[in-house]
Amino acid sequence: MTRVSVDPEICQAAAFYVGTVPAVFTLGPDSIVALNAGQRLDAGPIDVPPELVELVRTARGYCPSGAIEVSEE
Ligand code: SF4
Repeated sequence: MTRVSVDPEICQAAAFYVGTVPAVFTLGPDSIVALNAGQRLDAGPIDVPPELVELVRTARGYCPSGAIEVSEE
């Protein structure tokens, strides 16, 4: 299972990918990245649906601060 987590402490609030993968990423306070984990905002890790894994990896590749972490468990 692919999992993703974010680090709001190092996020620079660019947030372009939120519209690309809205099922996974959203914005928290001050436009800092958060994960869309059901009804709650969370830093994760959360499971990534298989059909969204490539999009999440792409988002990680674009993140200038390394705030998105993708892992395999
Ligand atoms: S791309 Fe990275 S630094 Fe920019 S908003 Fe997303 S997580 Fe934060």
